Parts: sequence; structure tokens; C-alpha cells
Amino acid sequence: MTSEETTSADLAGHGVSRVGALTVALVALTVALVVWSPHRGPPLDGSWWMAVLVGGGYAATERYVFHIEQRDNAMTFSISEVPTAFALAFLGPIAAIAARVVASLAVIGWTERPTAYKQAFNGALFAAELAVAYALLGWIVDTRDADEIRLVIGILVATLATVVVGAVVVSAAIACFGHGFVETLAEESRTTLVSGPIVTIVAALSVTPSMLDVRLLPLGIAAVAAIWMLLMLYGRLSQRHRDLRAIHDFTRSIGRSLLVDEIVTNALASTSSELRAMSGSLVVVDETGAVIAEAHHGRRVRDGDDDGMRAMHIPIRDVVGELGELRLHDRRPPLDRFDADDRHRAELLADRLATTLRNAMLHADLEHAALHDPLTGELNRRGFDARVDADLADEGRAARAVVILDLDRFKEINDTFGHHVGDEVLVEFARRVRQLLGPDDVLARFGGDEFAIYVGRESERDVRVLVEGIVSRSHQALHIEHYDVVVAVSAGVSFASAHDLRSEQLLRRADIAMYAAKRTHVGYETYRWEMDRRTPERLELLGELRDALDSEALEVHFQPKVDIASGMVVGAEALVRWDHPTRGWISPPDFILVAEESGLIRQLTDQVLRMSLRTAAAWRRAGHDLGVAVNLSALDLVDDRLALRVAGHLADADLPADRLTLEVTESSLLVDTPRTMATVEQLGELGVKLSLDDFGTGYSSLSYLRRLPAHELKVDRSFVSTLLVDHQDEVIVRSTIDLGHHLGMEVVAEGIEDVSTAERLRELGCDLGQGYGIARPMHPDGFAAWLESTHRSIRATAVADAPTAPVSGA
Ligand code: C2E
Ligand code: CA
Ligand code: CA
Repeated sequence: MTSEETTSADLAGHGVSRVGALTVALVALTVALVVWSPHRGPPLDGSWWMAVLVGGGYAATERYVFHIEQRDNAMTFSISEVPTAFALAFLGPIAAIAARVVASLAVIGWTERPTAYKQAFNGALFAAELAVAYALLGWIVDTRDADEIRLVIGILVATLATVVVGAVVVSAAIACFGHGFVETLAEESRTTLVSGPIVTIVAALSVTPSMLDVRLLPLGIAAVAAIWMLLMLYGRLSQRHRDLRAIHDFTRSIGRSLLVDEIVTNALASTSSELRAMSGSLVVVDETGAVIAEAHHGRRVRDGDDDGMRAMHIPIRDVVGELGELRLHDRRPPLDRFDADDRHRAELLADRLATTLRNAMLHADLEHAALHDPLTGELNRRGFDARVDADLADEGRAARAVVILDLDRFKEINDTFGHHVGDEVLVEFARRVRQLLGPDDVLARFGGDEFAIYVGRESERDVRVLVEGIVSRSHQALHIEHYDVVVAVSAGVSFASAHDLRSEQLLRRADIAMYAAKRTHVGYETYRWEMDRRTPERLELLGELRDALDSEALEVHFQPKVDIASGMVVGAEALVRWDHPTRGWISPPDFILVAEESGLIRQLTDQVLRMSLRTAAAWRRAGHDLGVAVNLSALDLVDDRLALRVAGHLADADLPADRLTLEVTESSLLVDTPRTMATVEQLGELGVKLSLDDFGTGYSSLSYLRRLPAHELKVDRSFVSTLLVDHQDEVIVRSTIDLGHHLGMEVVAEGIEDVSTAERLRELGCDLGQGYGIARPMHPDGFAAWLESTHRSIRATAVADAPTAPVSGA
């Protein structure tokens, strides 16, 4: 029990005893007035049937009280003043009081079933009203000896007195329950001031004919009946009018919003006030019956159900179906039950509400559809932009980032397992990402296999940790139907550093970073301007690269390739280097991208080839017959003159074609397969070797590999570097080695960073190795020096018939 209940119960308890005291006082007043009243008997002698008629009048007027209610105002009209006027004219006080108390209490007891103390109070009130009226009449006129005019005036005044006494005593009773007496009386008087005089005059009019001659009684009664009927008619019409207005107002007020929540709150407030319910609720459900909005008003105090009309449960439905339910309880006094009229009005309001709600729900559906992806239920591009732009406009957390996630082999999954599984993969993937996100993070699917997230974290590091988590989780197989599907994901991150960035720009940058991540198979990349084609810096870089190429400012460094079993150097990979005058060393992938996109790649490849072959020729002259490997870009392979160019460089350097290895990635072979295959075949005919670079990160199918005239497979460094810690990587490396050998290729492990990895690779039967653990890429001069020292040490430990210089594997 709450304290509030305690106090109101206490108040009620005190109130009851105070009303008891009031009742006793009223009875005492009645007795005193009757005993000491100057009233000398009724002016006209009424017979017993007059007492019955008056009693009947009281019963009838009590039964047919007339309510007019609007919103919080209620007026209750009763014309009990009419029988009072007859009583004053024809009956003595005791007979009148008896008739009134018996008749009224019987009717009230039957219709309202009040508590005993309420009945006692009602009885005392009726008695006191009449006692006061009789005393007043006695004081004003000599009831036994007065002319009709004075009598009629006396009856008028005395009748009016009953109205006043009623108002005062009722206010006092209400004040017993803690309400202010004056306020309550003022409230009561508003009704009394209007109804009192009218009813009193009606009463006086109806009694007058009978006072002339009692046979004119029917005339008086007929007049009252006529007035009463007009009043009822008027009441009903005006009530009708008010209802229509109320419905109109209601429809307008709820129609102002398109938000279901707002409509529900407004609608409950207006229906409760319109139907005078002190408590209630409104629940809206969707087609599955799930609650989508609800509102509650007040706390229900009176129990009871629809049958007794203590409550109204009104379904809200339209032609399409059920939309919810409106419940109204605790009808405001004076009535404590709803009536048929209330129910009818409630139903009308519920119908209007149904229309408005349906509209709002349709609108919400449309809006949802416009902003969400139907497959995963996450936001779509529009929804994402809207959310992100809104958030960017606010002061947010330190590191806010947009991340693009792109599934790496989704097309393959779709082609292999079918679109149905493909869809499931997307749904599952979205669910998985969702689990790693916080409640405020935004997730969206942009169609196809592209997802975007927007997150705010305390630091950029936190964002990176999250993205790393998503990328690494994506390697775990998804169980879809009876398949285990593995989807790798590439992610691009772009941080909102400047405050003027909008979702669109951040997405574009994240996209660029994502493509960089895809290209380099690093899982995720963070946007850097170097990656971006459309920045002024990028244009500047392009100009500078052109200058560097024209002035041959690029260098080529060499990283040794060694035979893992013997440790002998068999060749070197040429890696381009650009020492930018102001920016320092720029990472090759960054400027190679610029070169590819600006058509400079051809020139770049030519320079690297020329320098590499020239350097290799120099080694040869110094007695080191080493192979040299040059990386090709995907764009080189679509040039049908590539073989000619390579042949020209070989001739210039005077080097046999088999000393040159061209490294191509799996994915670059897929750019324009017919054309690249033709180029590859021409290169093969030329006698240069081909190496499949970054093996394991692309799409290669076995049949495709078999057709390829490649001599060498390079296991991607991402597998090699984690070979000793990740069992799965070891399995990949081992099977790649086996695969390469089966296809008659040499297998190179790149990215060997320590001796134990090299040792393990030797055990696995890997042929060649390359990596920082053996030697870093070196300037040609440094490489020559390194070669001399290594060569010496190898010579020192080699057996007598060892070759004078390490040669590339046959
Ligand atoms: P790549 O062909 O896979 O080259 C090997 C990269 O791995 C080189 O990076 C090399 O420095 C690095 N690396 C070597 N050993 C280790 C190691 O033990 N650990 C680690 N973490 N890395 C090692 P670099 O020079 O930055 O080149 C990056 C990529 O740029 C190359 O990857 C290649 O795709 C491209 N690239 C380099 N030079 C050229 C070129 O002349 N032409 C073309 N088209 N692409 C080139
Ligand atoms: Ca390479
Ligand atoms: Ca590589």
C-alpha cells in the first residue's frame, strides 16, 4: 500500500464520521424546526391521495434526473421542487417529510444502491430541506389565512429555499472529504443559480391552478410534463451537437500527428476527458498482435466489467482488422457507470481513431520501407545517411567513424549455393555484426554484399579494435542450411575528423579504404589521402610521380630469394621505391595505385624492368648468375604489347629470358581473362617465368591453375607470418606447397620473419623463401655488398663441388 492510499483512506474514514455528524445535525435541525415552526397547517387541505401523489412525484423526479455533461462539467437537473410546491400547498410538514424521505430513498436505494450512511445522509438532507421550507413559509405568510397571491409567493420563496439548503449541505458534505467548502459551494452554485430559479418557477406555475381548484390539478401536471419533455428534447439535441463537435475536435486533434505514439497519447487524453473516465488505457497492436504503442491514464480505482458498465472496453478496428483496444474506467461523478450513450460515443471515437491509426501505420510502414533494407531489416543507404548526418551534426564522442564492410567472396557463394543461401548469408552476417555493435551504433546494408556501420568511440584505437573484431569474426563459418559457409570481409574505415564531413563523404572515403584493403588483403584499411583519387594532394602526387618517372628518380630495391634447404641465394625480387622529396618514402601500393589510374603504370613497369634487368646483368658480370623477379600490375597484363616490351628489355640487358620472373597476382589474372591469358601465353613463349603472387587470397580454381603456364607459387605472407601460431594457416601453407608441387611448380614462401618459421617451412618442403628474417629489400649497392658477404660465407661452408655462384632452381 502506498502512502498516498493510506492518506486518502484516512481522509475517507474521517470524512465518513464528519458526514455522520452532519447527518445528526440535520436531523436535529429538522426536529427543532418542525416542533417550533410557526407553520399552522397546510393552507389547503389535501386528502390522503394528495400525499400519495406528492410521494409519487418525488419518486418520479428522483428516478428521471436529467444530466447534462460536457468534458469536466456536469449538471444534474431534478424537478423535485414540483412535488415540494404541491406539498407546501396541500400537506403538513410531517406528511410531506415522510412522503419525500420514503419515496426518494426508495428510488435512490433501488437505482444506485448507496451505502447506509449515504442513505442516512440523503434522508436527513431531504427532511431538513422541507423543514426549512415549511418554517420559512410559516414566517412569511399565515398559511391558514392568506390570499392566493401571497401564498403563491410564499411557496415560491420556500421552494427556492430547498434549492439553497440542498446546495449548502451538499457542499458541506463534500468538504468533509477534504475539499474546500467555499470552492465546492461556488461550484455547486453555478448549477443552482441556473437551475434553481427555473425549476422553482416551474413548480410555482404547476401548483397555482390546483390552488384555485384542485380539479385543475391535471393542467398543472400537464404543464410540467410539457416543459420536462421540451427540456429533455433540448438536452438530447444539445448533447448530440456537443457529441458531433467532440468527435470533430477529436478527429482533428489526433489527425495532427502521424506518429502512432503521439496519436495514442492524444487520443487517450481526449477520449478520457470526453467520456469522463478518470482512468483508462489505449493499446495499439500490429497484425501479429504485438503491442506497438500504448498509453495509460490515471489509476483504476473501481472494479467491475463491461456488463455493469463500470468500464468500457472498446475494440479499435477497421475493415482491415483489429488495431487495438480502448479501455475506460472510473466514470467521473455524479454517475459511476457509463451508459449506452457513452458507449455509443466511445465507439464513434474508436472508429475515428481506427482510421487515423491506420493512416499513421501505413505512413510508418512506408517510411520504414524507404529507410530500411527489406532482407536484413537494417537501415538502407538513405536511412544510414539520415542517421549519420543527424549524429554528425551533434557534438559526439572523440572518434566517430564510418566503416564499409564488403564480403570478399559473395558472388562465388551465390553462384555455388544459390541465391537463397546467399540471402541467408547476408542475414546471418548482419546478425553477427549487430552482436558486436553497441546499441547506439548504426548498421546498414547498401544492397548486394555491402554493409556500412557508423560508430562513436572514445578513441580511434577503440574503433580499430571493433573493426578488427568484425573482420576476424567473419572468418568463422556461418551455418546455413546444411552448409558451412565462410565469408571473409574487407573493411574500410574513415574517421570523421573535420566537422564539416557528411555521411556521403565519409562513405566515399571508407569505400576507398575498403578497396585498398581488398587489394592488399589486409582485412581492413583506414582511409589516407594517398589512397584517394579526388583530393588535391592526390593530383599533386600524380604530377610529382610523373616528374619522378621522367627524371628516373624512382629506385628499385632487391630482396633476396633463397633456397630454404641450402640457404643459397637463387635470385631477388625487385621492389620499386620512391623517396619523395618532401614526403619521404611512400608505400608502393599507394603510388602504384596512382600510376594505374593515371596511365603511368606502363612507364613505371618499363623503368622497373629496365633497372632490374640491368642490375641482374651486372650481378651476372660479377659472377652471380641470379634470377630477378619483377612485379606486374593487373593493367600490364591487359596490354597486348607487354611481351614485346619485355623482350626488348631483355635484349637491351643482354639477359636470357629465363632469368626473369614476372610476378602476377591471382586477381590480376581475372581482370580481362581472355586478354590476360593471351599475354601470359606470349610471355611463356618468350621463355620468361611466371610467378603467382599472393597465392591463397584470391579466387583460383584448380582447373584454372592447371591451364596457367606458371613456374612458381608464392604463398601469401599473411599465411606465412602466422604459420607457427595459427594451425589453420599451417594447413593452408602445407596444402599450397603440395598443390604447387603437384602442378609442377616451385613454391616460395614470402614474409619469413624469423628462423623458426624458415625451419618449419623447410620441414613442410617449401622450396624458396623470402622475408625480413632473411634480408630486407636493399638498394642495389647494398644488395651487391650483402651478396658478397653471404656468398663468401656460403662458400666457406659449402662442400668442394658446390657451384661457384648460387643459381636459380632448374
Ligand atoms: P608483394 O609483391 O607481395 O611484395 C612483397 C612486399 O612484402 C614488399 O612490400 C616487401 O617489402 C614486403 N616484405 C618482404 N619481406 C617481408 C616480411 O618479412 N614481412 C613483411 N611484413 N613484409 C615483407 P613493398 O615493397 O611495400 O611492396 C608492396 C607491394 O607493392 C608489393 O607486394 C607489390 O604488390 C607492389 N609492388 C612493389 N614494387 C612493385 C613494382 O615494381 N611494380 C608493381 N606493379 N608492383 C610493385
Ligand atoms: Ca611480389
Ligand atoms: Ca606477395
